[in-house]
Amino acid sequence: MEASQTMHNVTDRLERYSRQMILPGWGREGQIRLSERSVTVVGCGALGSHIANHLARAGVGRLLLADRDFVEYSNLPRQALYSEADAAAGLPKAVAAAQRLRQVNSQVEIESHVVDVNSDTVEELIAGADLVMDGADNFEVRYLLNEACVKHGIPWVYGGVLGTYGLTAAIIPGETPCLYCLLGPMPPPGSVPTCETAGVLGPAVATIAALESVEGLKLLLDRRDALLNSLMVVDVWTGDFERIQTQRSQTRCPVCDDGRYELLDAERGSLTVVLCGRNAVQIHSRPAQALNLAALAGRLEGIGPVVANDYLLRFEVDGCQLTLFPDGRAIVKGTADPIQARALYARYVGL
Ligand SMILES: [Zn+2]
Repeated sequence: MEASQTMHNVTDRLERYSRQMILPGWGREGQIRLSERSVTVVGCGALGSHIANHLARAGVGRLLLADRDFVEYSNLPRQALYSEADAAAGLPKAVAAAQRLRQVNSQVEIESHVVDVNSDTVEELIAGADLVMDGADNFEVRYLLNEACVKHGIPWVYGGVLGTYGLTAAIIPGETPCLYCLLGPMPPPGSVPTCETAGVLGPAVATIAALESVEGLKLLLDRRDALLNSLMVVDVWTGDFERIQTQRSQTRCPVCDDGRYELLDAERGSLTVVLCGRNAVQIHSRPAQALNLAALAGRLEGIGPVVANDYLLRFEVDGCQLTLFPDGRAIVKGTADPIQARALYARYVGL
């Protein structure tokens, strides 16, 4: 009697997933497996909000959402989970995303962490996860995630979008190439465009997030046979879809072959110091990373007032003033919040 009652409850609970359970290789068994799995989504901006949306609707057991930012009106064209009311209230993205997703699927256990993902916090955020999904908006966090996931043997799915194109690949430590194997060393700060300087198209984000989510679901369902084992490069504007088959190379990788975790061990990465009484935060990278101020000035000119000379570049945006020095150091004036200062630095200088 009790057993059949339990069976009946499970059937009730699974009812909503009927359209995906009839997919080949999914079934009731796959759906139950999914409901026992835990996923950490790092970053709840454009990619992260789409990914969290897919995974919550698909019925994963537990979602941990981590993001350091607040909802702004400029997020709304592409960040699927948020509303004008969230922006007006200045809600943290992790909180607004969790609220929305609990309305969508109350079966999913959702935890939100309003936190800067850095070498101090990342390992705790991914502890116990069966899968980590990359919804980050900068290279420092992605390379840090790569190190943390390789160190702890947790599969993760990388994704990045800029303008109208994006890239994604699933990474299984010890089996597939890691992010460092695929893309080489982390690009130095200021050397690559960011979404704030080069723009970003909502449907491009949605496409990459969907591809990321599919690989993530295969991993959660134990369908490794179906993984693409590829770096996917997609430009939704030109219609170019490229699938580059990936395999572990013969060259030694400092991360996955040698276990050198420079970002995680904080030999590199950025450090923030609140400048007391000045309503400002200083950021510097370790070791110092030279910034090409002239090139950076060229990229930032379209966005806000820029003043540049041989010694510094000063740039005003979002009510703050960023002063950048050739050694990579920055002072962000107009805030005493290290998280906001780091976010601005990552957005406009590009960590
Ligand atoms: Zn590697």
